[in-house]
Formats: sequence, structure tokens, C-alpha cells
Amino acid sequence: MNAATDALLSKSAYYLPVYAPRQLVLERGQGARVWDVEGREFIDLAAGIAVCSLGHNDADLKAALLAQADKLWHVSNVFYTEPALRLAEELVTASKFAQRLFFCNSGAEANEVAIKLVRKWAANAGRDAHKRTIITCRGSFHGRTLGTVTATAQPKYQAGYEPLPGGFRYIDFNDVAQLEQAMAAGDVAAVMFEPVQGEGGVVPASEAFMRRARELCDAHDALLVLDEIQVGMGRSGQLFAHWHWGVTPDIVTLAKALGCGFPIGAMLAGPKVASAMGVGSHGTTFGGNPLATAVARAALAKLSSPEITANVARQSAALKAGLEAIGTEFGVFAEVRGMGLMIGAQLKPEFVADIGALQNLAAEQQVLILQAGTSVLRFVPALNITDEELAEGLKRVRAAIAAYMAAR
Ligand SMILES: *Cc1c(COP(=O)(O)O)cnc(C)c1O
Repeated sequence: MNAATDALLSKSAYYLPVYAPRQLVLERGQGARVWDVEGREFIDLAAGIAVCSLGHNDADLKAALLAQADKLWHVSNVFYTEPALRLAEELVTASKFAQRLFFCNSGAEANEVAIKLVRKWAANAGRDAHKRTIITCRGSFHGRTLGTVTATAQPKYQAGYEPLPGGFRYIDFNDVAQLEQAMAAGDVAAVMFEPVQGEGGVVPASEAFMRRARELCDAHDALLVLDEIQVGMGRSGQLFAHWHWGVTPDIVTLAKALGCGFPIGAMLAGPKVASAMGVGSHGTTFGGNPLATAVARAALAKLSSPEITANVARQSAALKAGLEAIGTEFGVFAEVRGMGLMIGAQLKPEFVADIGALQNLAAEQQVLILQAGTSVLRFVPALNITDEELAEGLKRVRAAIAAYMAAR
């Protein structure tokens, strides 16, 4: 680390100390590579936490942003703009289930409006407040607002923020018996979960859990809400992750890769709930901003292309195989799992305490990776990552693990 980096890092003292970033200051990117202020080059297998799905500095995204920046930046939702209207039609059509959507700026906001829509829908049906329960799953992650942190059934995210909003019931993810029991009270308005738990450790929903959730929602007149904020927009290998299971949800939330790096979120609502909120029921100043929606239109066109679908399948196989080979060589991974380009390498128990050190070693080897839960290394590269970029990234991950084993 040189003096320039040191001088910049010292300014992090002005931040609320809620993060513990790697000690790097990144400056620019191209494809699946980024460079820091010292000019060191890194392979980026983190992609801004599954956000930069078209890599860095994509020419089409940049052209869309710059063209819109020349025209109009912001008018609020008191007026219409063309990019937002066009994206609304394109995204609703692409979803194959939704009738309407709501634009916002982040994942938490998308889930917040999903929760509010569930409540309003139930209220419209005459259900009183204690019959509007939302079931969520342990290990989930739905965001950091008070509502979404309560939906997030993990004590570590909630501790100290009580009193929390009521009306949530937690079950173990993929536990069909618990789901059945939790619905039996007849007070449930929705079941909400991620088709693949992301922050919780890259855990896909089982066939049985997904199918039974849909059946039980139908039987109890409840809504199925799928949080595809991380796994949606092509990351699973399909544009929408739930297509893999063949279920039709009532609500889907999107954010991370929707703008491929430009902040935007969306909540998509199917026919059962699309009209439950009327004028004045909800709102946002920035949501559907023309800059964000112009970029998201360009992103959607590319992320829904057959080229991306094919590349995700190809690189998913290469990433899994590469990690399995590293796991076999060094005996560090208990399991490599996930879907598409959302892959988790579960550390064996004896290595879990060193998960932070492993990520630092990876950064030293000039490859950026992430953690999920307390014991999983998470790999969520750009969906257009090339053979060369991925091979180089895996080579560096191997070097980091080798360095770790040698020092142990
Ligand atoms: C990241 C994430 C969120 C929260 O998104 P923010 O933009 O950070 O508010 C919600 N759900 C899932 C599944 C996520 O991965």
C-alpha cells in the first residue's frame, strides 16, 4: 500500500463505521477487471455484490447513460418520462407474470413496497391487522430498513433496533413441515423468500419447498413473494430465477443488477395484487428516475439476450469445476453449490475462522471475492465474463488458497 492509498484510506474515519472494506481504493474498471489508485489490476469476481452483471464500463450502458444525461436527469413522479414508461412495459412483458410495477432505488425499497402491497391487499379484503402475517425464512436477507430487516429472519441484523414492526413469522428455509404449520393458523397474507438465499450462504430453494409454498398460498389465499434482488436479471441462468422452478409468483422484487451499477429497484406485481394500491398509497422522489431507467433499459436488452444465457451456462460450469478442483487439491471446501453465476464455496469447519483472512489473501493475489453468511466464499462475477477473465480469476483464487495453506 503506497502513501497515496494511505492518505485516502485515512478519510474513511469520516464514515459511520458500519463496513469493514478491504483496504483498497478502486479507481476504474473494464469488463471483469478493476484497477486501484496505485494502478494494480484485479479480476473482479464480486461485481459490486452481483450488481455489475455486464462488467465495468460497458459501452452500451455508458452510451445510454450519456445520451440521457444530455436530455433530462430528473422530474419526479409528478410527471412522466419516456425511459421509465418504456422500461415499465419492457420489464412487465419480460416477466411473463406481472401486470404492473413500481420503480424505486434499492433492494430494501423494493421489498418495503412489496410488504406494504401485501398488507394493503389484505386490508382491502377486510382482513384485520393480525391476519396480515408475512412468513419469511431464517437465513434470509431482505434489506436494512426497519420493515425489511424484520423480514430478514436473522438476529444479527436486528439486534439493537427493537422495537421492530410486527406481523412476521419465521420458519427454517426449505422446511416444508414448518411452512405447513406456520400457515395453518389461517392468518397468513404472504410467504416471502429468495429463490436462492444470497447473503445467507448461497442456498437454493428445494423443488418441494417452492412447489408447496405456491400450493399453500393458493389454498390459504396468500401471496407468494419472491425476492430476486440478487439472483434475478439473468444471474441464475434464466432472466427470472423462478422460471427454473416453473412457479408463478404474485410479487417479485428486483434491484442489484437491474441497472448494472446505476441504482434502481423494482417491484413487479401479478394480476391478483396489481391494483391493490391506489393514488397516494405509496411513492418515492427518485424512483424511476430517467437516468436510472435509461440505463436499465439497455441492461435489460442485453441481460435477456441468448448470448448472456449461453455465457452464464458456460462460465457457471467452468467456475464450479475450477472451485471443485481447488477444493480437491487443498481440501478446503465442504461443498460448491449455487445456480448460474451465483456460486458459493462452503468452507470446511476448520477454515471458517479464517474467512476474512482468505478474502484478504485473494485481494493480495489481485482477485476480488465475497463472503456469504459466516462460512461461504461467494463468487458472483459479471454475466459476460470471458473464458480468459474467469480462468485468470480462478488461477488467482488458487494462488490465494495455496498461500493460505502454506502459512497455516
Ligand atoms: C442486496 C439484497 C437486498 C437489499 O438490497 P439493497 O439495495 O442493499 O437495499 C435485498 N434482498 C436481497 C436478496 C439482496 O441480495
